[in-house]
Amino acid sequence: MVTDIFKRPLQALRISVIDACNFRCNYCMPENEYPRNYKFLKKKERLGFPEILRLTRLFVELGVDKVRLTGGEPLLCRDLPELVKELAQIPQIMDLSLTTNGWFLAEQAKALKEAGLNRLTISLDSLNPELFRKISGGKGTLEKILKGLQVAREMGFTPLKINVVVQRGINDSELLHLVEYFRRPEYIVRFIEYMDVGTLNGWRLDQVVPSQEIITQIEKKHPLEPIGGNYGEVAKRYRYLDGQGEVGFISSVSQPFCGSCNRARLSAEGKFYTCLFASQGLDLQKLLREGASDAEILQSIRKCWQSREDRYSEERTDQSSDQSSDQVKPKVEMYHIGG
Ligand code: SAM
Ligand code: SF4
Ligand code: SF4
Repeated sequence: MVTDIFKRPLQALRISVIDACNFRCNYCMPENEYPRNYKFLKKKERLGFPEILRLTRLFVELGVDKVRLTGGEPLLCRDLPELVKELAQIPQIMDLSLTTNGWFLAEQAKALKEAGLNRLTISLDSLNPELFRKISGGKGTLEKILKGLQVAREMGFTPLKINVVVQRGINDSELLHLVEYFRRPEYIVRFIEYMDVGTLNGWRLDQVVPSQEIITQIEKKHPLEPIGGNYGEVAKRYRYLDGQGEVGFISSVSQPFCGSCNRARLSAEGKFYTCLFASQGLDLQKLLREGASDAEILQSIRKCWQSREDRYSEERTDQSSDQSSDQVKPKVEMYHIGG
């Protein structure tokens, strides 16, 4: 096991398998910054599956036991089940999951289940078809996403996690609708505070709806009780007192959790990032393609994690300033490292 300067272990790895996405969510890849002909990485510029597998095995040697596949939109990789199948055979990986916008789920859920994927998270910010289209940058339809959820449930991916990024003035009036729809044991909705990731979404602090505000709103109708989370889990979990399942809150802005952050991120081009808000990553693709040995790669990753002192969200809170995105240092874009 390897630990950083604050004794945080390296336990969870998020792998972005592709930077491209078929959606243009306003908080992640705004349409005006990423037009249809935007040049994403070419296939040879991205890590191939054998490279991802080799690196994952090395991360596992350093203590990783939780792996999440993400993107961009990971299901744009039509052969993703092949990678899932290989990862599912690494015995030390206790939890293998995927985050997706759900657009290709109806077609792919079966193959993913058969390949050994343990859990699925789907991002869905509104149940209003027009608002859904507006947030996704005019891409996709709500109807197809809901079909994907149904197929995923039928394949046994329950409880299904639904990620909702909450933006004040955009979808905050929708939240109780989402609560009513998903308040069932088969689903866990997680409300995520809108974050200042990347540099292009024009984030402002006044667009963030603090989780406590949402909890108060829900409790007026459906009493809640907190339940403990697992180590390294970022969502604060609550259950409905009437037994209709649970709901989670990811309060990265109002209650940062850097103190227990055990996550590393591997971008589609093979850069290793120790924080969601990092400016730079360690170029593992270069090492791989220059013929570095496993021992050399392990040593680079170990050194990088051991010198990790990231605590961006806590520092943001310490300064408690309204940092508009033009005041902050350069940061990697969310779609490169997948959340
Ligand atoms: N395309 C997939 C999806 O949307 O689920 C996977 C990649 S996406 C970058 C991963 C997660 O990051 C999604 O749940 C998305 O809602 C979340 N996300 C993106 N930008 C965000 C932001 N500015 N604040 C909070 N969450 C964000
Ligand atoms: Fe695409 Fe996911 Fe970013 Fe939306 S949040 S633009 S679906 S990568
Ligand atoms: Fe982890 Fe960085 Fe997020 Fe803090 S800001 S929780 S260190 S990823």
